Amino acid sequence: MSNTKKKVKRKKLIHCHKCKSQSDCCRFGAWADLEEAKKIIDLKLKGEFFQLEKDEDFPSGYKVGTSYEDQPCTFLEPDGLCSVHKIDYHLKPASCKDFPYEDDKVSPYANILCTILKAKAKKK
Ligand code: SF4
Ligand code: SF4
Repeated sequence: MSNTKKKVKRKKLIHCHKCKSQSDCCRFGAWADLEEAKKIIDLKLKGEFFQLEKDEDFPSGYKVGTSYEDQPCTFLEPDGLCSVHKIDYHLKPASCKDFPYEDDKVSPYANILCTILKAKAKKK
C-alpha cells in the first residue's frame, strides 16, 4: 500500500479537528527534531525546549522535548491550543502532527493520551 493510501485511511479514522479536548495529547509534551526546534525557537514564543538527546530515529539525529519531565507542553496556551499551530501548522513538530499515529501505526501512547481513540475503544 502506498503512503498516500495509508494517509487517506488514517484520516478517516481520527479527525483531530473535531476533537473537543485537543490539549489532552499535549499534557506530557512531545519530542521534536532539533532542526524543527530551531525553527520554533525563531518564532520567539513563550515555550521552551528541554532534554536534548541523540536519537537516530529523528532526521537530524537529535531530539528535544517540549516539556520538563512529565509536565504539559510549554507551547500549550491557557486556551488549550498550541501556540506553534496558531502561527503555522507546518512548523509543529512532526510527532505532534502525526499523533495519535507514529510510523503509520497507532502510537503506543494513544490509549492514554488521545481522547477520541479512548472513546472509540470504550464503544467496542
Ligand atoms: S507543540 Fe503544540 S501540538 Fe505539540 S505537544 Fe506542544 S502544544 Fe501540543
Ligand atoms: S490526537 Fe487525539 S486528543 Fe489529540 S487532538 Fe487528535 S483526537 Fe484530540
